[in-house]
Amino acid sequence: MALTGVEIFKLLPKTNCKKCGFPTCLAFAMKLAQRQASLDSCPDVSEEAKQKLGEASAPPVRPVVIGSGEKAVKMGEETVLFRHDKRFVNPCAFALEIKDTLTEADINNKVREVISSEIDRVGQKLRVDAIALVNDSNDAGKFESAAKLIAREAPEIPVIICTTNPQAADAAAKLFTDRKPVIYGVNTENTEGMVNVAKSYKATLGVAAKSLDELSGLTEKIKSLGIEDMVIDSGARKAKEILEHNTLIRRTAIKKNFKPLGYPVITFAQREDSLVESLIAATGVSKYSSIIVLSSIEKWKNLALFTLRQNIYTDPQVPMQVEQKVYKVGEPTQESPLFVTTNFSLTYFIVSGEIENSKVPGYLAVMDCEGLSVLTAWAAGKFTASKIAQFIKESEVENNIKHRELIIPGYVAILSGALEDKLEGWKITVGPREANGIPAFLKSRAA
Ligand code: SF4
Repeated sequence: MALTGVEIFKLLPKTNCKKCGFPTCLAFAMKLAQRQASLDSCPDVSEEAKQKLGEASAPPVRPVVIGSGEKAVKMGEETVLFRHDKRFVNPCAFALEIKDTLTEADINNKVREVISSEIDRVGQKLRVDAIALVNDSNDAGKFESAAKLIAREAPEIPVIICTTNPQAADAAAKLFTDRKPVIYGVNTENTEGMVNVAKSYKATLGVAAKSLDELSGLTEKIKSLGIEDMVIDSGARKAKEILEHNTLIRRTAIKKNFKPLGYPVITFAQREDSLVESLIAATGVSKYSSIIVLSSIEKWKNLALFTLRQNIYTDPQVPMQVEQKVYKVGEPTQESPLFVTTNFSLTYFIVSGEIENSKVPGYLAVMDCEGLSVLTAWAAGKFTASKIAQFIKESEVENNIKHRELIIPGYVAILSGALEDKLEGWKITVGPREANGIPAFLKSRAA
């Protein structure tokens, strides 16, 4: 059972030293009880208390890592039901299903689709994260051959080995020993066999149940056999069921600290109709799935799901930002125009996109305004004439251009006079108010 705030408080040093960032030990204890603080923040807590508080301070959804190296995926570790309470921690992973009944050429094509799925959006790399190899043939030899192909062609991609046959699981898992695979398919009939395979290869077990009750019984049994890392599947396949089960799983894990359901959820969204599959996957992204298995990864589908995932897992209290620097758009020369704007991601992408649309290469000086848009930053005193002038001087953009003309957003035309005073020798030009006016603006200058 979870400890209450008062029970936790009794175990703390009670010196109110504030080193944890909270004004009192009691305030810290309350946050620990709500899982909104980490015990590590108190440097003076005793070893004995640490042991007792370990369970209370552990995240209610167990953290699990699949894969290794740069493309490893961390999931779980969630502490809240709603992202406005505290941001969701680890974005869900998308996995492409590859059946072992496919031809070698088709498997290779699917692997290539996964490898080339990466896109850059608002400064973040987004991709299909994993391959779910499915033992569709029920033939351990065929499964092993397909696993060999994937191990060779996709050496960095995390793998989910989907089979209910412990021999097939063993044959495939031994090819991914250095990659922390998930072995999905442990059920009430093959528990011991699958647990042994997972132990041999230090793999995460994917628990396949037919109901929530069966699921909680299975995870308890698997844990008692010595496996800690699991991802769980309640058997839900319809969108309504997925929504219901995922919500119940997250709620009981977080609100009741019910450990048998405190694991990342794997959702199988495969459908013949790609649009329906996308909608089911979107339900999983929005409501608590940690791995979503897809049957196909068309570009349109990826873009929609990546964008949704990025939005759900962004901290709603922190605006998305890009790095402060002078960006090149196209291949600018020393004569190319120089624009300035703020580092709100959306602003950056819209402005740079419109410069690109104009087909006139240019420089875009992006100033750190804590992720605020132009007007908000100006109103907050973060995008002022003196700050812009200082940024332009320090950016050393002068080394890249012969001219001394700076184009400012039309919304802050009011800054032009003061900016000319601060930036000696520079001409300040007022650009369009909206970024979509940039192509016409640049065209009129060329005429
Ligand atoms: Fe109390 Fe520890 Fe926080 Fe100090 S750091 S106020 S002892 S909980």
